[in-house]
Amino acid sequence: IGFVSQADPEVGAAMQDELKRQQRNLEMIASENMVSPAVLAAMGSVLTNKYAEGYPGKRYYGGCEYVDVVENIARDRACKLFGAEHANVQPHAGAQANLGVYFALLKPGDTVMGMNLAEGGHLTHGSPVNMSGSYFNFVAYGVSPETGRIDYNQLYEQAMQVKPKLIVAGASAYPRVIDFAKFREICDACGALFMVDMAHIAGLVAGGDHPNPVPYADVVTTTTHKTLRGPRGGMILCKEEYAKAIDKAIFPGTQGGPLMHIIAGKAVCFGEALKPEFKQYSHNIVANASALADGLLKRGVKLVSGGTDNHLMLVDLTGQELTGKELEHRLDEVYITANKNTVPNEQRSPFTTSGLRLGTAAITTRGLTVADMDTIAECIALAINDFDNSKEKIRGMVTEICTRYPLYA
Ligand code: PLP
Repeated sequence: IGFVSQADPEVGAAMQDELKRQQRNLEMIASENMVSPAVLAAMGSVLTNKYAEGYPGKRYYGGCEYVDVVENIARDRACKLFGAEHANVQPHAGAQANLGVYFALLKPGDTVMGMNLAEGGHLTHGSPVNMSGSYFNFVAYGVSPETGRIDYNQLYEQAMQVKPKLIVAGASAYPRVIDFAKFREICDACGALFMVDMAHIAGLVAGGDHPNPVPYADVVTTTTHKTLRGPRGGMILCKEEYAKAIDKAIFPGTQGGPLMHIIAGKAVCFGEALKPEFKQYSHNIVANASALADGLLKRGVKLVSGGTDNHLMLVDLTGQELTGKELEHRLDEVYITANKNTVPNEQRSPFTTSGLRLGTAAITTRGLTVADMDTIAECIALAINDFDNSKEKIRGMVTEICTRYPLYA
């Protein structure tokens, strides 16, 4: 930031403010994390200067001998980390990874099943406002209204009727384990290909805290910046038989030159995730989420599905006057960053919502432990139940924690 501030004080000042915000606040957006200095440095490196259309050994530009080394390291480490046969590390983001898979495996108009956005799925799993939902015939599956969980028997019945060409598993706001073996059985029964978007849980999969989809799915996509704690980006893992089609679908199918500085960041991130410390990190994310859920439940806060198995939970405000939007604003005021989220059976608009999504990946990176989760649960319960009288108190509690765990000091 020092370099930027010297050259461009206007941008530098905003970057400095953002650093201070990250240091001052508890970051509880479930899709965010805080990367290591090595990942940061790789992203801010001279590799951003290089054009490298194509793949290692087969580029459309000269001078690619060193970026080839970097991309090969990233691909090899990704395969090792997840036990995959093939990795494409070029997708610029999760959305581009998913688009690439659809382009590789589907024809416009094909029928696909994906999880309903309002019940935990992602925009790229068939929302009408996304290209996925406008170019393909997506049929949504949801969660059981009683349990907040995927009902695999119902999913089987629906899939046998719909007969999709592809079923997409994976979510942005699903607090429970996804049973990939059951999905595979259903895909086999109805003759569908099976894609898993493990964007949210990739770090937990790497750490052994969520079943690995790779043995079950034909293709697995992910982002690299959520629980996996890498640079903002995407990746596709697949069986060897799809490797050529997937690579073609990313370049030249849907992207131009790869972002080699980001691929270097991915390589560093995968290296970090292969170390034993990362397993401990992943265990800590889940332990913290579980402790936070217990702390909230103990204080009478309702959670979708009654708790969590992974890194996130959904506060359910259904039936209360307080909306997800208002709770997000309240938490912002007291230095806790989270996001409003729809809940199953949502009665409000996606801009208002009856839910709030909370995740523990970033605060676990920061070093917070199970002992701190009860304090955070108290802060959130106070923000829900007695905000006007408690603002200063909550700010004090948050500041005390953030001071104890310095970030990028
Ligand atoms: N897939 C899932 C399940 C996600 O949660 C997200 C992002 O939130 C994406 C894909 C898209 O990733 P990106 O924002 O990198 O395009």
